[in-house]
Formats: sequence, C-alpha cells, structure tokens
Amino acid sequence: MIRNPIPWPDGAQCACAITFDMDADSLIHIARPADSHDRLYPISMGRYGPLVAIPRILATYRRLGLKQSFFIPAWCLERYPEAVEAILSDGHEIGHHGLIHEDPVETRGAAQREAFEKALAIHEKIIGRKPKGYRAPVYNVTQQVIDLLVEHRFSYDSSLMADDVPYLMKMPKGDLWEMPVHWGTDDWPPFAHYAEIDYMMPVRAPSDGLKGFWEEFEAHYEAGGFFIMVVHPFLTGRLARWREVEKWLESVLHERKVWFAPLGTIHDHVARLHAAGTWNPRIEPLPYFGGPVTV
Ligand SMILES: [Zn+2]
Repeated sequence: MIRNPIPWPDGAQCACAITFDMDADSLIHIARPADSHDRLYPISMGRYGPLVAIPRILATYRRLGLKQSFFIPAWCLERYPEAVEAILSDGHEIGHHGLIHEDPVETRGAAQREAFEKALAIHEKIIGRKPKGYRAPVYNVTQQVIDLLVEHRFSYDSSLMADDVPYLMKMPKGDLWEMPVHWGTDDWPPFAHYAEIDYMMPVRAPSDGLKGFWEEFEAHYEAGGFFIMVVHPFLTGRLARWREVEKWLESVLHERKVWFAPLGTIHDHVARLHAAGTWNPRIEPLPYFGGPVTV
C-alpha cells in the first residue's frame, strides 16, 4: 500500500510517465575527452538515439496519442536539432539534463553553477522557454544543484528516490517537488554494456529485461501509485526492446485506467491538489545532515 495515494484525473488508477534521457554520445565525450572524437563505436552507439530511436519512439506516441518527457543535455540540444524539433513539434516536454552530462558530484562549486547556468541559457535559446524540470546525470544530485533549481524557479527535480509517489522537498531557500525515480525502472542495469565508462552488465533479452518494469507497474496500479520509467533512446529505443514497450503500451491503454502524462503535467496536478488541501505530499526536509553551505 501507499500511505497517501494521489487522486489522479478522470478516475485513473495510476499515473504513468515514460521519461527518456537523450544522452546520445555526450557520455563518451565527458568520460574520455582526450580522444573521444576517435572512439567511433561509442559515438555510433549514442548517435543511434537521436537519429534512429527518437523518430521510432515519437511515431509510437503519435499513434497512441501520448505526450511524454525527455531530458536532454544542452550539448545534445545543439548537436541534434532535428530530434529536438521533432520532440517539440509533437508537444512533448524537454527538461534540463546538464551541459554535457557532467556528474554534479564531480563538478561541485563554481564549475557546477557555470555548467548549470550555461545549459539553462542554451535550453532557453533553443526551446524558447525555461524548463520546468531537471534530472541529474547519473542521478547524482548535490544540495548545490537543488539550491540552483530553487533559485531558478524550477518546478521539479526527477533524480531522487525517497518515496513511491511525488513528494515535496522543503529547504530554507524554498520548496521543490520531487518526481521520484529508482533503479528498478531504469534501463541501464538490464541493457547497458559500456566498457569505456566502466559499466558492464550482462545484456538481457528484451522481454526479460523489461519484465521487472512491468512488475513495478502492477504494484503501482494496485496501490494507486506513480509508475515512472527512466530509459534511454540508445538502449530501450532499439528495435526489439521498443517493440516490447509498444506491446505493453497498447495493452495498458486498452485494458487499464491509466493516466500517461509528461512529468510537468503530473507535477501541476499534484501541486494543485496540495494547494487546494485535497491531498498532502510527504515532506522531505533538506539539506540532509544540515549541510553543506553551497555557492
Ligand atoms: Zn543521462
């Protein structure tokens, strides 16, 4: 059970968000900057995302009438304009996902503020508005990043794991909603094999790798919860894996009472309920352990 299940719109029993992090080849450039330009295999593996998987994913969403969320590093916004334009023209949400997928834990202090704000400026220039949401590369949020999100009036973060359903983080500097994630519905463990960034997993068959996701969905459906997938075009957008996701989508849309929406829209719903006093989120006070004081 969930102690404070959220009343979802139109009597839906579960909110669902498939969130894609379109990292493309930013991963190899941040990991191996000295010679990444000449590592053709990881570049090609990343490029599959915006060039092949994104058109496939968007075609499915158009056919099924879904709007969803994509988190994209600013470096990728600049290098893959056709994918970005296609995502936007279909009415999906794009969130902040770092400058070139730098790990916030490795980029503390002035360098973090500089990267965060540079990415934000690129986002605003290309997309024409500020993002509502943020997801940290490798989920590695620091208190400094949370404070930057509050300072720049973001609506939500989607990198942390302290509850099953959206919750509210309260800091001295302000509040921020969390749209929580977890590793059980992330596609790196079942599908990523990437020796250059020291991530080597035994790649599982599509139906086998996604089975755990669908079990997570069933538990959320039963409890009136919030089912979120954190997936990547170059992993889950591959032909056979996306075919499995498509089959699952067709089945739940047909047989279940589900509400698929971008995270920004789910955020607006829960924030409205909270403001009206009809539902109360669990409060998570930050910073943890009283610190650190950030720049
Ligand atoms: Zn990422």
